[in-house]
Amino acid sequence: MNELKPSLLDFTLKELKELVKPSFRAKQIYGWIYHQYAQNFDDMKNIPQALKDELKEKYILNPMQIIRKEESSDGTIKYLFELQDSKTVEAVWLKMKDTQYDANGNVTQEAKYTICVSTQVGCKVGCSFCLTAKGGFTRDLSAGEIVAQVVNLKRDNKHKHNRKLNIVYMGMGEPLDNLENLSKAIEIFKEDEGLCISGKRQTVSTSGLSNKIDQLGQMDLGVHIAISLHAVDDKLRTELIPMNKAHNINSIIEAVKRFPIDTRKRVMFEYLVIKNKNDDLGSAKKLVKLLSGIKAKVNLIYFNPYPGTPYERPSYEDMFSFQEYLIKHGLLSTIRDSKGIDISAACGQLKEKTNEENKQA
Ligand code: SAH
Ligand code: SF4
Repeated sequence: MNELKPSLLDFTLKELKELVKPSFRAKQIYGWIYHQYAQNFDDMKNIPQALKDELKEKYILNPMQIIRKEESSDGTIKYLFELQDSKTVEAVWLKMKDTQYDANGNVTQEAKYTICVSTQVGCKVGCSFCLTAKGGFTRDLSAGEIVAQVVNLKRDNKHKHNRKLNIVYMGMGEPLDNLENLSKAIEIFKEDEGLCISGKRQTVSTSGLSNKIDQLGQMDLGVHIAISLHAVDDKLRTELIPMNKAHNINSIIEAVKRFPIDTRKRVMFEYLVIKNKNDDLGSAKKLVKLLSGIKAKVNLIYFNPYPGTPYERPSYEDMFSFQEYLIKHGLLSTIRDSKGIDISAACGQLKEKTNEENKQA
């Protein structure tokens, strides 16, 4: 295995200022990384050669390479990255809104994008419906490897550094199981001299490690959380997410109530709808009751099948009735449009496809 060289993307500006003297050089380097998306130290024109040589010895700039890219007709682009130790992770570029034009063809509003990033290679949680879980857990991503996914996607899509976008931690891995590197990456994204992506634009999706939800809340980073609830009773939830035994539904709901939330915002609960498992109106009724004390929003997700899974995608009618029930009973609810469904959309599916193809080759 190659040795993992630390990346300059692992550092906040404050940390970089301690490493690089005089400190204004650190600010210039930050600009090269996050405004110019430099991939080589030699691109940094105004940095003295001696400093560049010194940095080159100890650090790398880009800790990952794009090895596969799949583009969907709706503008979604799924990326597979290879890391320094040849492990692979995915990130997804999601077009949330098309560019808007006036009658004369002038742009009135730029297209809106969200990037879905991974936080681990594999995952320890082992959800029975999730393809990422099938390969087990390999390792945590470093803060720099989390940050680099966004820098690489922005560069590849020619998205200027000062254009806004949102980040969702919904790729491979359980973000709260890698809290130290996750929180560092959140801080780096927030840097004014860097990408300047506020906490409000970052959403951490978790399968519900209730103690870690508390820890994230205490860090006061200003991020949103999304809870992967998926079931309204502990028996089914434990079947779907085994660690529900240790962090049951009640403990999660209590942790959410303690989480610092912008009073104008709602906590997102993700509910993966699986045919004949949790798609009945009885479950919808229990969901309304469960979330009654919380300013919540439910995102209903169609289960995305893959070869070998025992679970099935729900019907459109059942999905729609479920949503209708929630809305009728005062619970805000959306159905996640299956962006990129033609390009192996759910987490882990592009990686798995590549593994299968390599086996056949
Ligand atoms: N580990 C975190 C974040 C990554 S998973 C979490 O579980 O929240 C991101 C989302 O992908 C989760 O909501 C998960 O339920 C969903 N997902 C996983 N497998 C899926 C599948 N086969 N079909 C649809 N969504 C899936
Ligand atoms: Fe891990 Fe999330 Fe997949 Fe569960 S759904 S195995 S927590 S990545």
